[in-house]
Amino acid sequence: FFADSYQPKSYYHSLYTSPSLTNNESVSHHLYILTRRPHLAGTTANAKAASHVLSTLSTNNIRSHLAEYAVSLTYPDSRSLKLTRPPPEPPTTFDLKQVVYKDDPYADVADQVEPTFHAYAKSGTVHGPVAYVNYGRVEDYATLQETGINVTGSIVLARYGKIFRGDIVQNAYEAGAIGVLIYSDRKDYGGGGGGAKWFPDGRWLPPSGVQVGSVFKGVGDPTTPGWPSSMEGCERLSEDEVEKAGNVPLIPSLPISGADGEQILRSIGGVVAQDDWQGDNDAPVYRIGPGPGVIELSYKAKQVIRTIQNVIGIIEGREEPDRFIILGNHRDAWTFGAVDPNSGTASLLEVVERFGKLQRKGWKPRRTIIFCNWDAEEYGLIGSTEWVEENQEMLSSKVVAYLNVDVAVAGAGFHAFATPQLDQLIIEVIKLVQDPDNTSQTVYDSWVKAIKNPEIGRLGGGGSDYVAFVQHIGVPATDMYFGSAYPVYHSMYDDFVWMNKFGDPLFRRHLAAASIWGLLALKLADEEILPFNYSSYAYELQKSAEDLETTLSGSSNISLISLFKSIEKLNKAVGRINDEIKEIKEKKGWEFMWKNKNDAWKMREVNDRLMMAERAFTDHDGLPGRPWYKHLIYAPSKHNNYGSTGFPGIDDAIENANKHNTKDSWRSVQHQIWRVSRVITQASLVLHGEL
Ligand code: GLU
Ligand code: CA
Ligand code: ZN
Ligand code: ZN
Repeated sequence: FFADSYQPKSYYHSLYTSPSLTNNESVSHHLYILTRRPHLAGTTANAKAASHVLSTLSTNNIRSHLAEYAVSLTYPDSRSLKLTRPPPEPPTTFDLKQVVYKDDPYADVADQVEPTFHAYAKSGTVHGPVAYVNYGRVEDYATLQETGINVTGSIVLARYGKIFRGDIVQNAYEAGAIGVLIYSDRKDYGGGGGGAKWFPDGRWLPPSGVQVGSVFKGVGDPTTPGWPSSMEGCERLSEDEVEKAGNVPLIPSLPISGADGEQILRSIGGVVAQDDWQGDNDAPVYRIGPGPGVIELSYKAKQVIRTIQNVIGIIEGREEPDRFIILGNHRDAWTFGAVDPNSGTASLLEVVERFGKLQRKGWKPRRTIIFCNWDAEEYGLIGSTEWVEENQEMLSSKVVAYLNVDVAVAGAGFHAFATPQLDQLIIEVIKLVQDPDNTSQTVYDSWVKAIKNPEIGRLGGGGSDYVAFVQHIGVPATDMYFGSAYPVYHSMYDDFVWMNKFGDPLFRRHLAAASIWGLLALKLADEEILPFNYSSYAYELQKSAEDLETTLSGSSNISLISLFKSIEKLNKAVGRINDEIKEIKEKKGWEFMWKNKNDAWKMREVNDRLMMAERAFTDHDGLPGRPWYKHLIYAPSKHNNYGSTGFPGIDDAIENANKHNTKDSWRSVQHQIWRVSRVITQASLVLHGEL
C-alpha cells in the first residue's frame, strides 16, 4: 500500500520550484489588492485586508481562522509644532503634511492616511530651546557631554537612521530633554543631493516625507505584559502601572520631515557640530545649540482598546501532526505598506498558492505547516506576541521552527538571519533558487559574490515578529529579505507605485523570496530528520566567549572558565548527535525509513532533542531587569532595540559595573556568566544527555 501511493517528498519539492509555477501575475496582484488603501492596525481597511488573506487560504484548501485580541493602541488626536526665533524672524507654524503629488494614483485615498505621529508617544505640551543631537544615540550624548553641552530642559532634534526610534526618545529623556523631534535627514533618506530624485520621480523620500512609527520599547500589548489580551476580557495594567513598567515614553515626541528638520536646524546657534554630525553638501551648517530657536510642541493621543486580527491557516501534517513549522508575516501598515510589510504578505500568499497546488497533486506534509498573518506588528509586535503568550506552553512543546518574513523586498541583494542551527539549511536552500537579478546563477552565488564575508545574521535584535518566538519561548527561527534600508520606509510613499517602479519592477524578487521561504518550510516539514545542525551554534558561542574574554581582559576577578567548559560540553554533545544522525541516515534508505516502527521512534526521539535544545537557552527569570526576555544568548541591545547582542545579560552587567565599579556590580557580572554557562550546559544535555 505504502509503496503504491508514495511519492518521495523530493518530487514535490522540485515541483515547488519548477518554472511553470513561477509566474509573477499572482504575487503582484496580491500586493496590489493588499495595498489599495492605508491599513493601519485596528482599522476597517486592515480587517478587509485580513479577509483577502483568509479567502486566499480557503481557496487553496487551507483550514483557516482569525485569532483576535483586544489590545491597547494609540492614534493621533491633535498635534502642533511651532518654532520661534529671535526677531526679526517671524515664528513658523508647521503644517506637518506629506505632499500628495498631482498625478498620484492614490490621491483620492491620501486623506485616509493618519496624520504623522509616534505610536504610544506621551501626550502633552512642551516649550523650550531646541538642541541638535545627531542620531540620538548614547554615544552622541557622550559627545555632547565632552563638549560641555547640556540638553536638560531642551527639546532635542534627532535624525532618524541608526537606532530604534523608541530608544531615541528614551535616550533623550535620560539626558534631561523635555520633548523630542525626529526628522529624516536628506543625507540619509533624500539621496544626499547631487541630483538624486525623490518619489514619484525617483526612489528617494520627498522633502515633506515623514517616517511614522512606534516609540514603545516593550513587546506586545503594553497593558498585558506576559499574558494574552483576550477578547473575553483579561487583567490589564492601569495607565500608571504601564508607565512604571518603563517601556512607554514619559516625554512627548513627533516625527517630522526633512524639510521641517532643516528649517529647525537653521534656528540653532552655538557650537558647530563635528563633521560626522553634518548634513549633505548643500545642507546648512548644523550647530548644536540649545537655542536660540524655541520649539513649542503639542501632542495629544487617542488611547483606545481595539480588536486586532491575526489570520491563521493550517495544513495538517500526515505523520507528525503535533510538530509545527510556522511561517509568519505581518499585515498591518502605517500607510499603504507595499514594502513594509505587504511585499512579505504577497510572498506568503504566493507560498500558500504553491502549497495549494502541491496539495492538489497529492502532497501532504509530514509535519503541520501553519501560516500566520500578524496584526499590529507596527505598534510593538503585538499580534504575534499576544498569540505566543496565549499559546505559550503548547507552542513550546510543538514548534520546530518559526520562519519570519516582514519586508520581503525593498530592493536587490539577499540577507538572512537565523538562530545558528538553521544556518546550514538556509545555505542549502538558497543554492536551489535562481537569483532574481542574475538568472544565470543562484541566490547563493550572488550572495557570496556580493558580500566579502557573507554571514547569516542573528535574531537578537527586536524589530519584527520572530521576537516572541526566539526571545520569549526559545523557538529556532529565521528571517530574511531582499534589499536593505529603503528611503520611503514608514512614509505615505511606501506604495504599490514605489514597489513597481523601484523596489521590484518584475516582481522576481518576490518570487525568489517565496521560493526560499517555501523551501525552508518544505524541508523542515518533510525531512525525516530535522535539518538542524548545532555545530554552528557551538562555534558561534565559542567566538562570543573569546570576544568576551578580550572585553574583560584586565578585570582580573572575573572568570570565564565555567563558560568555556559549558561550550566544550556543547561541542561534544553536538558531535555525538551529529554522529547518531549520520548513522541513521547511512543505515537506512532515506525516503522509506518511517515504515519501520523502531526507526520511526528513534528518529522522533532524535528530532525532539534537536527541537528542544533551543528552549534550553531560555531561563525562567529572564534577563536582569527585562524578565519577559527569557533567552540568555540573544536579545536586543539595551540602548538600541534594533541591535542584537550575544550574552545580553553579561553585557548589561558589564556596562553597569564599568559605570559603578563596585564589588557588587562585578559580582553580578560573574553571576550572569554563571547563568549563561548553566543554560549552555542544559542545551548540551538536551542534545545528548545521559543520566
Ligand atoms: N517593526 C516596527 C518598527 O521598527 C516595530 C518594532 C518594535 O516595536 O520592536 O518600528
Ligand atoms: Ca500580552
Ligand atoms: Zn514590518
Ligand atoms: Zn514597519
